[in-house]
Amino acid sequence: MANPVVAIVGRPNVGKSTVFNRIAGERISIVEDVPGVTRDRIYAHSEWLGQKFNLIDTGGIDIGDEPFLTQITEQAEIAIDEADVIVFVVSVREGITDADEKVARILYKSDKPVILAVNKVDNPELRGDIFDFYSLGFGEPLAVSSTHGIGVGDLLDKICHSFPENQVEEEDKTIRFSLIGRPNVGKSSLVNAILGENRVIVSNIEGTTRDAIDTPFISSQGDEFTVIDTAGIRKRGKVYENTEKYSVLRAMRAIDRSDVVLVVLNAEEGIREQDKKVAGYAHEAGRGIIILVNKWDTLKKNNRTMIEFEEKIRQEFQYLSYAPIIFVSAVTKQRLDKLPALIKQINENHQRRIPSAVLNDVIMDAIARNPTPTDHGKRLRVFYTTQVAVKPPTFVVFVNDPELMHFSYQRFLENQIRDSFDFTGTPVHLIERKRK
Ligand code: GDP
Ligand code: GDP
Repeated sequence: MANPVVAIVGRPNVGKSTVFNRIAGERISIVEDVPGVTRDRIYAHSEWLGQKFNLIDTGGIDIGDEPFLTQITEQAEIAIDEADVIVFVVSVREGITDADEKVARILYKSDKPVILAVNKVDNPELRGDIFDFYSLGFGEPLAVSSTHGIGVGDLLDKICHSFPENQVEEEDKTIRFSLIGRPNVGKSSLVNAILGENRVIVSNIEGTTRDAIDTPFISSQGDEFTVIDTAGIRKRGKVYENTEKYSVLRAMRAIDRSDVVLVVLNAEEGIREQDKKVAGYAHEAGRGIIILVNKWDTLKKNNRTMIEFEEKIRQEFQYLSYAPIIFVSAVTKQRLDKLPALIKQINENHQRRIPSAVLNDVIMDAIARNPTPTDHGKRLRVFYTTQVAVKPPTFVVFVNDPELMHFSYQRFLENQIRDSFDFTGTPVHLIERKRK
């Protein structure tokens, strides 16, 4: 389930972010129509010859006012902690510097595969100079010119060959979820309260550094869950843990590894801009989503309070109209007992498959009641609909001309699907294709 992670490390100015952009490239610029989401240039999803992976530019994580050498060593440590494969970027123009050697010394301590990419090899004459870099001790250096796109394919091949073979298949029956939200909304209190109310499974199998902080437990209904750690929950005492970029990175990694994401809001403070940003990530990643309004105990309530809060959320998070909202308190434990069953339900919806025959009955029925739109006398014709994927449920609608499928009609069809089948808590993707 979880895709491997590649981290790019190296001292400033060797070309890390240029390499990052080359690899992540066009995928980064696909901007979804989600308000409040600013692109985070340090983390991206990528793919090479069908192999998906996630990419981190550690150079983008600035660690406060730390001196330069501390910054680059911290970044190298993040790479060691977070990545399956490390790309160590150096520059042929300056040769090996003290800072390169410093990074190398940190990377020696890791048993992760390290690929040495010598960047800025813009012309063949410079190729001879890359052999000096053997002395860094990471085997054969790879010549790259990220601005010219030279050697990037070879680099990607080497990255993909270095992924661990036996990526532990995360396809056990446990339901993975994470809690995300800005600092102080109560994520760690909620995790502790949830774990306190359920039976934590004590495992004596040593996980990897990254997975060891996931906690499996069994709910009172007997279902197995794993709560995934995000920044701010269980601290490991690293300097970089309090930096904003690192928290974002951890949240994005946690979202990627989750089946269901709990977006935590703070009832006491109301909705803030940062909440939308955080929720936007989860929505974009296509995960199941539940909105938790925590600290519900702090409000003086009347019979309108909950409805008004809900209306406000619906207004501010329009793209999350599918997500259920639950009002909880980590302190009084209010409604926390309902959470496991709700997470389980959303997880089922997230992977629900609809047989084509039933699906087409629903679509054809909908079209009969609300005829397809026309444009310049040409009418949209829908031939057939089929579900092509789960997590999130994705449907392909075969039509005469995709241009004729207006957003409002697509929304109408999606709503018909939602009315007929339970897709609460999960995004649903509709893709129109021209029937040949
Ligand atoms: P970072 O600090 O390691 O992320 O480095 P950047 O990606 O910001 O690049 C630093 C500078 O090197 C920029 O001016 C880039 O345009 C330049 N640069 C990056 N890659 C190459 C390359 O392959 N060839 C040349 N000639 N310049 C490059
Ligand atoms: P995190 O940064 O999101 O992990 O937030 P914490 O779990 O550290 O909580 C931040 C503060 O809010 C702490 O002082 C908690 O005691 C408090 N807090 C958390 N949940 C609740 C709640 O449901 N009700 C009240 N009254 N306080 C809470």
